Amino acid sequence: MKRGPRVLVVEDEPAIAELIAVNLKHDGFLPVVAEDGAAAQRELNEVLPDVILLDWMLPGESGLMLARRWRADSRTRNVPILMLTARGDEPDKIAGLDAGADDYLTKPFSPREMLARIRAILRRRAPEQARERCEIGDLVLDAGTHRVTFQGQALKVGPTEFKILHFLMAHPERVHSRTQLLDRVWGDHVFIEERTVDVHMRRLRLALGAAAAHLETVRGVGYRMTATPEVTADGGGLAQQTG
Ligand code: CA
Repeated sequence: MKRGPRVLVVEDEPAIAELIAVNLKHDGFLPVVAEDGAAAQRELNEVLPDVILLDWMLPGESGLMLARRWRADSRTRNVPILMLTARGDEPDKIAGLDAGADDYLTKPFSPREMLARIRAILRRRAPEQARERCEIGDLVLDAGTHRVTFQGQALKVGPTEFKILHFLMAHPERVHSRTQLLDRVWGDHVFIEERTVDVHMRRLRLALGAAAAHLETVRGVGYRMTATPEVTADGGGLAQQTG
């Protein structure tokens, strides 16, 4: 029998961890519970899970710190992280996503919502992983090594900007609306405001430098990566302020 996806549940409250584990098991997943970052790290050193459910508030290292560390580690870099938090503030959501979380679940959440979100993450990861290397002009993104280069020079791109760039480069020449980007990069449910997309797009443009010419803002519609950028008066590389 094919085993279900392995889910590492990092949660210090036994009652919540148990509730999550029972629901995961019932739905065919294979949950492994760790009560803190140290226990989670021991588990990661042994077996890589298919997805990590990571509580924000933990004794010792916070979920945010752990997400950052696991994203920086080549072994754990590509394991999707679903962050659990009691916080609902926009800056905290952005901090979590910046740290490399794939999606967010605000406590209290229903088991159904949790399961739907995990499935969405696994679905979303699968097609993108199939296209590990994307090229547009001299811009190359390698998802396997998590590197972006332009004319052979490495570019420093943040984790959220990397995900946006990966999606846009895997689906080039098409215009993607902010809503589509929210769905495909952040999750099936909109928890982030559309203007947040623009914030990350501005950061992405800065990170891309001259290669930003390939990233077009289509006024009132969205964004696209193109091999044949239009040359505009401002050089085609500057973000237009919208919304
Ligand atoms: Ca906790």
